[in-house]
Amino acid sequence: MTDKTSPASVTTGRSFNELPLSPGIKETLQQLGYLTMTPIQAASLPIALAGHDLIAQAKTGSGKTAAFGLPLLTNLNPRRFAVQAMVLCPTRELADQVTQEIRRLARSADNIKILTLCGGSIMRTQTSSLEHGAHIVVGTPGRIMDHMERGTLNLDALNTLVLDEADRMLDMGFVEDIAFIAKRCPAQRQTLLFSATYPDGIAKLARQFMREPQQVKLTEQHEESKIRQRFYEVSNEGRLQAVGTLLKHYRPVSTLAFCNTKQQCRSLLEALHAQGIKALTLNGDLEQRERDQVLIQFANRSISVLVATDVAARGLDIAQLEAVINVDITPDPEVHIHRIGRTGRAGENGWALSLCSPSDQRRVMTIAQMMGIKPEWHELTEIHSEDEAKLVPPMVTLQILGGRKEKIRPGDVLGALTGEAGYTREQIGKITITDQSTYVAVARNIAHDAVRKLAAGRVKGKTVKVRAL
Ligand code: ADP
Ligand code: MG
Repeated sequence: MTDKTSPASVTTGRSFNELPLSPGIKETLQQLGYLTMTPIQAASLPIALAGHDLIAQAKTGSGKTAAFGLPLLTNLNPRRFAVQAMVLCPTRELADQVTQEIRRLARSADNIKILTLCGGSIMRTQTSSLEHGAHIVVGTPGRIMDHMERGTLNLDALNTLVLDEADRMLDMGFVEDIAFIAKRCPAQRQTLLFSATYPDGIAKLARQFMREPQQVKLTEQHEESKIRQRFYEVSNEGRLQAVGTLLKHYRPVSTLAFCNTKQQCRSLLEALHAQGIKALTLNGDLEQRERDQVLIQFANRSISVLVATDVAARGLDIAQLEAVINVDITPDPEVHIHRIGRTGRAGENGWALSLCSPSDQRRVMTIAQMMGIKPEWHELTEIHSEDEAKLVPPMVTLQILGGRKEKIRPGDVLGALTGEAGYTREQIGKITITDQSTYVAVARNIAHDAVRKLAAGRVKGKTVKVRAL
């Protein structure tokens, strides 16, 4: 995926001159045509330049690189030949872009050495560059860890650690690697975390190794209206069938369907399977490993629907949900708000569809009152789902036997698939590594072929057992 963005067009009108930046940097900003700060820069630079840890969220193209690049350069002593700042990025392309932008920002100070450390380049070349001294390293977690483990990257002088595109790093399964790296950085340091979206996993990650981080979040206006809420009147007998009808009509890639009871979850699952819809359910009877597998397949878009009770869905951490369906209306309006708040995140549109029998009317009225809305009623008869094509998830999950215990990393799997096997990065989805297994989502049309190629080839130098779930 390329991330080429046009210059941040929206700025705040606030000048960089109000910030405690060196005259050289101010001059550079002028030359670059950065006349005023973008909103995320105006919100985060005062905090970061004051030395605080920071979690900053803003959409792509909003000028986040300078928002961490300027503090990192300000913390730097060019006369000290040691790595003082490190930026972790999810991919090589992004690491290259960050390196370029920091180089541009650093050009007034001569002799600041910035090194990119990513997989795909020769280790030895990187090692000798490191021996010659670098002030800043930018790289992907896997390769940075390699250097740390071999002792070729010394972080004793590190004063700034940056996690860029943290949400994507989480998606790519780097969470453990990031924790490994952060734990080995000096405790006396500043940590800056940047992300386009804010899935629950980020807060968890931050709690592990950030110190009283301040948070800035630039969300789009009209955030609430991103969730489009519709109510459908159904009879109790028609309720389960109606879920499939809605799915085939709205065609969300990922849907969380809430039922009020475990029994209803089981019944819905049967009804969906009968309609050829890929769905799984979470319940307390599952072993941890089974639960993990369900969540992995849902999060990586290889099943369409996750059916759950409120209890089972507690703590679920899924970034991208196109729809929430209330198969049963909950008696508690707060629970309803919590349920539908799981869709329409990060500026994406989301559907909140609720199925209501006549006896649910009172509940809907309480919900509407609490949310200050007038419920938008629709008829199922408006929908002719017989005409619609089958709903098929875009991805398939492949399970590779062997995981963290075998020291498999996302890069190993990605390498095997994009290297020898010849697939493109776009055909590969989320990679999740557990103790015993590695799960990789691949585009549905290559799944069969990918199983064969992985089984015939090698991952991390070894032959592996693979199956499609
Ligand atoms: P993000 O990391 O948020 O996706 P980038 O840091 O890549 O955004 O910045 C996007 C573009 O905006 C880049 O081309 C960058 O050079 C430009 N840019 C950043 N800050 C400013 C500014 N204050 N004024 C003008 N252009 C800017
Ligand atoms: Mg960026």
